[in-house]
Amino acid sequence: MQITEIYTSLQGESTHAGLPCVFVRLTGCNLRCTWCDSEYTFTGGHKMTMEAVLDEVSRLTPDGGLVEITGGEPMLQEREVVPLLDALLQRGYTVLLETSGERPLGKVPPAVIKIVDVKCPDSGEGDTFRLENLETLTPRDEVKFVLGSRADYEFARDFTRQHNLNGRVNAVLFSPAFRKDATGARDSSHCLLDPQQLAEWILADNVAARLGLQLHKFIWDPAVKGV
Ligand code: SF4
Repeated sequence: MQITEIYTSLQGESTHAGLPCVFVRLTGCNLRCTWCDSEYTFTGGHKMTMEAVLDEVSRLTPDGGLVEITGGEPMLQEREVVPLLDALLQRGYTVLLETSGERPLGKVPPAVIKIVDVKCPDSGEGDTFRLENLETLTPRDEVKFVLGSRADYEFARDFTRQHNLNGRVNAVLFSPAFRKDATGARDSSHCLLDPQQLAEWILADNVAARLGLQLHKFIWDPAVKGV
């Protein structure tokens, strides 16, 4: 499979935020979100066998733990990724899969925790979520909306209610988007949507969503890669 990088950091998002995690970042994406901070994954990378990926994960976290398969869009390499997910589960890892939900998710092993990023209008990739994927969601999964405006918030709020996401998954996450040229200050000044404003909207509408901040962008310089 084509890999951009494998590294250890703290999980920055989801209900696992703050935990040490090995990230396996696959190369390639078929979307072009306006605020994407992973454009360096679109091309390049290097080929690795599944055994080589497993060896590297084991070297980085010999005692097990959390592994996230991410990208780019990892499900573009479904034929290689599904056996890798199975192999990681067999070795006892807790496995997260971060995906846009634009590719079919039916072959993902149910024990994998899917973090499905439903694209909102300001991303420029709204309407790319494959609605059939709702049927693949399990109570261990999480659905994330990255928000840049009031219109994005209303889309996420209405989608959450319309599709009863709280009845399907472990967590619904609303996260302010970061400016992709963010650098320097490690604070919310780089958010496209003020977290305080988002919190007030969530409370006013009583939406059962968890406000998420990208923890790694408050710990390290937002421009730093590999964290
Ligand atoms: S799906 Fe992810 S990697 Fe692809 S363009 Fe959007 S944010 Fe970037």
